[in-house]
Amino acid sequence: MSTLSPIPQERLIRTRISIEGIVQGVGFRPYIYNLAQSNRLKGYVLNNERGVEIEVEGNPAVIEAFLKLIPETLPPQAHIVSLLQEKLPPVNFTDFTIRESTSQDKRTALISPDIAICKDCLRELFNPHDRRYRYPFINCTNCGPRYTIIDDIPYDRPNTSMKTFRMCQACQKEYDDPSDRRFHAQPNACPLCGPRVQLVDASNRPVNTADPVAECARLILQGSIIAVKGLGGFHLAADATNSASVERLRALKSREEKPLAVMAPDIETIKTFAMLSPEDEALLQSSPAPIVLVTKVQPFPLSPLIAPHNPSIGVMLPYTPLHHLLLSGNFTALVMTSGNLKDEPIAIENSEALRRLGACADYFLMHDRDIYLRNDDSVLKTFLVSGTRKEVVTRRARGYTPQPIFLQEEVTPLLALGGEMKNTICLTRGKTAFLSQHIGEMGYRETYEHFLKTIDNLKRILTIEPRAIACDLHPGYATTGFADAQKELPVFKVQHHHAHIVSCLAENQVQERVIGVAFDGTGFGRDGTVWGGEFLIADYASFERAAHLTPVFLPGGDQAVRKPWRMALSYLVTFCGDCGYNNLETIRKQSPRDKEMVLKLIQSGFNSPLTSSMGRLFDAVSALLGVCEESTYEGQAAMELEMAMDNGIDDYYDFLYHEQEGSCSINPSPLLKGICTDLRNRKPAGHISTKFHNSIAAMIVAVCCRLKESYKLNSVALSGGCFQNGYLLSQSISKLSEAGFTVLHHHLVPPNDGGIALGQALIANEHFTKRKG
Ligand SMILES: [Zn+2]
Ligand SMILES: [Zn+2]
Repeated sequence: MSTLSPIPQERLIRTRISIEGIVQGVGFRPYIYNLAQSNRLKGYVLNNERGVEIEVEGNPAVIEAFLKLIPETLPPQAHIVSLLQEKLPPVNFTDFTIRESTSQDKRTALISPDIAICKDCLRELFNPHDRRYRYPFINCTNCGPRYTIIDDIPYDRPNTSMKTFRMCQACQKEYDDPSDRRFHAQPNACPLCGPRVQLVDASNRPVNTADPVAECARLILQGSIIAVKGLGGFHLAADATNSASVERLRALKSREEKPLAVMAPDIETIKTFAMLSPEDEALLQSSPAPIVLVTKVQPFPLSPLIAPHNPSIGVMLPYTPLHHLLLSGNFTALVMTSGNLKDEPIAIENSEALRRLGACADYFLMHDRDIYLRNDDSVLKTFLVSGTRKEVVTRRARGYTPQPIFLQEEVTPLLALGGEMKNTICLTRGKTAFLSQHIGEMGYRETYEHFLKTIDNLKRILTIEPRAIACDLHPGYATTGFADAQKELPVFKVQHHHAHIVSCLAENQVQERVIGVAFDGTGFGRDGTVWGGEFLIADYASFERAAHLTPVFLPGGDQAVRKPWRMALSYLVTFCGDCGYNNLETIRKQSPRDKEMVLKLIQSGFNSPLTSSMGRLFDAVSALLGVCEESTYEGQAAMELEMAMDNGIDDYYDFLYHEQEGSCSINPSPLLKGICTDLRNRKPAGHISTKFHNSIAAMIVAVCCRLKESYKLNSVALSGGCFQNGYLLSQSISKLSEAGFTVLHHHLVPPNDGGIALGQALIANEHFTKRKG
């Protein structure tokens, strides 16, 4: 019947749609082009400095349907933050086109992170009839390298490390066709025109083979260690079921006990050695393809040397075509650890890898697509809060940077330099903050060079010319030295824990004054002592130190960090008096000479700064329980204490609270005495560990309730490295919520020092703006 009715002559309308978010370099324009074509709408789409602008002209009902469809079938990497529409008089467009961006618009476009290979490319990779069958560099608009291959903007091929590869006719055709999924895919390549892999031995002599990747897999199965060039740097690869290889790898890399990450071919295989929640599975399969920390199954079928004394393991899925080809070589899992020695930055250049990793690797699987910017694997884990799984990121790098953190308000262009450990930098522009990838431990020359290069590169590709610099208050940090040397720009020095709390506020888009709980290992305090167990009343502009752990001596400074038994002795002497600590196993077994020396340090305070660090209290308890008495990597004692916990214990120890000069001093004396009593009564370490964790969560709630009274504040922000501890974080969030608090915690930004640059930037912005205004 309806076919017989005349088609109503609808009025023609034109609508302009402005979209902000992650909409550039992710196949958004071809997506809109195809959507408009299939709805027979006329108009155009273009990238501009704010995102994407679309104009469509046609029937109002069709335009309405088109608007509804946009968010429904987005390209996988796209993310819409806002969509505005505006009605305009019709101009009678004759077709729908993808318009060229102006050069100014091209310069301010957002760069996409590196993206794991997509399903379409994966299908082609293993399809014997495809022209890219087994080609290790297959990619498309929805996947492949981005951030790591860009040297300058606009994001066009001549500004990437693909500039040396000239596209063949077939590749160029795909690149030019808006209906092709390789339309404007800058790294587009094929076996005829693109990068190639090569296998060489440690002396850079080529291994004669028709299939270097298959040969590499064969050598690994025979026990070889191979340096494999990936997306953001080299990995050292070994067979994860071969303990002899793993042991050799640890020795060569001087990595004693720190867990090694593994890569397994698929989810089903991971399930043979680790337990996965549905959220873990989703994270592993997400486009950033991070390392996810999960619990091992027992008995553990891989080498026990991968993560000794540790019930969990870091796993990831293959994320480049090269990895997929390598992992198809019949492995349960490969150790894929960063291609570096100890905590140095990972190697990215072929010659550099041969030089720095020559002693570690038997062979090198390399290729000729340069990596411009180093980018480690990101590390995340999930944790349960009142039945819901949330994520916490401990290393934010590949797959996430340079995705911006969206802010509530506009900020001045600024550069924040981060801290000394787990360094990251942050640049701001408009309502966005760009936190760099993990740069690393600043004590190494290579890290410092990487830090300089990252600043330089990010400033260029984000077109940000900072008007001020923010750094830590610590006078001895390399980053502070860098800031002091910049004579042209004002420098703002920011207290470490204040920066932690503001980074948490910023990512949660909160501006109000809050109770900030900043718990970590170390941060330079305003009074010159080492802080780390802090309750701050803070907003972006300022903070007040409202409560803190009662300080103790750090006997021998860094030595006490490496030898947690020293912290145990310091805590016992300070808070338990003559409680017979010599009868406690951990203290009794130390040599009398060592004990004597540490006691002298504690009594004299010589070379022993005072610290209120929560991380050190974790260390002390870890040593007391015999869990970890010497630490071979940062955070080991606390991590192993968390791992040692038993389930189903609700008990906790107490603290004492003293008001001192307007600040509350939190005295752990009852906690330590309780632990000593439980040890004498032969309570298991797991039991005491859980009781200890519960005590910290209970103390947080108790102190927050006191501060709520005095300051009339109801929001609590949790930050600092201690909140990487899933149990502590989950307990703190649920107990604070039960007590009626609004709880803010990290999800995009690491709670550890990898997040402080963001806080530094926003605090500096506050002062910079005020100074001007
Ligand atoms: Zn793809
Ligand atoms: Zn080609």
